Amino acid sequence: MLVVMQSHATEAQIDVVLDAIRAMQLTPHPMPGATRTAIGITGNIGMVDSRTLEVLPGVMELIRVTKPFKLAGREMHEADTFVRLPETTIGPGTFTLIAGPCSVENETMIERTAEFLVGHGVKLMRAGAFKPRSSPYSFQGLGLEGLDILARVRRKTGIGIVTELMDTDNADAVEEAADIIQIGTRNMQNFSLLKRVGKARKPVLLKRGMSATLEEWLMAAEYVMAGGNYNVILCERGVRTFSDHSRNTLDLSVIPPAKKLSHLPIVVDPSHGTGKRDYVPPMALAALAAGADGLLLEVHPDPDKAHSDGAQSLSFAGFEALLESLKRLAGPLERRIN
Ligand code: PEP
Ligand code: MN
Repeated sequence: MLVVMQSHATEAQIDVVLDAIRAMQLTPHPMPGATRTAIGITGNIGMVDSRTLEVLPGVMELIRVTKPFKLAGREMHEADTFVRLPETTIGPGTFTLIAGPCSVENETMIERTAEFLVGHGVKLMRAGAFKPRSSPYSFQGLGLEGLDILARVRRKTGIGIVTELMDTDNADAVEEAADIIQIGTRNMQNFSLLKRVGKARKPVLLKRGMSATLEEWLMAAEYVMAGGNYNVILCERGVRTFSDHSRNTLDLSVIPPAKKLSHLPIVVDPSHGTGKRDYVPPMALAALAAGADGLLLEVHPDPDKAHSDGAQSLSFAGFEALLESLKRLAGPLERRIN
């Protein structure tokens, strides 16, 4: 349900409506707009008598929201969301590159990568300290030590950090170290984790579950937003299909419907989407053309020696070549590489 206030409604009238919603054991989400304030309502709305709110002074109309994703959908929030960070803003019009190694391996490689990226105008670096690996015998990440490395390199170079949170136990530490908290594909429906990052002060990059429908993905975003964290960035990273020519099937066809149904920005991860570095540039360019708001790219100073996902990681030279192609394509599409 969405309460639309009259354009001349006063702050006091808005407060009365907020209190009335809370009194019904529901949660109000005020959304100030250019001409008027709207108030989204979430919770178990079934029993609500809408007339109670309709008659309050300053209320213009009540609109029923039909989709299950109330906060993530466009019904309640028509305008595009821009996720604003100290380093940059993610959303339509620009195309934000988030690049870096799969894992934090040591301080030297993180510092080298950060300096390389900063030199090319990239504002955000990805790197996992906690790694969700299919095998318990594979490199699991440096954990808290990895977060310390990221924090030091962030301080030294000014680059923003995108890093994965795998469990609620490490939430405080990751929230502190990260500029954007990544939720991985395997945790897209880890509801306790989603609730925790819903309380976080940092934006959340929410990867699509490897077999999640668009609706399930948006409902996962809804969990985060229902907790009060409205800064969610969707990330398409490929889904499971019968195809075995690539690691996953990068579903670029999800971008137009995601944009239609949701106001949230969406970035594409062609590294995990394809699993092979040769396939990354064409799919990165296709993501830009298809209307994505940015890319999450694996880039490593020495991909063949990477502790994880080397085969899909671009070398620095590979990244430079892709960046040139992206810049050439961005012009005609009226997008600015960020
Ligand atoms: C990653 O980004 O390194 C990662 C583990 O991704 P995903 O959750 O998409 O597999
Ligand atoms: Mn990886």
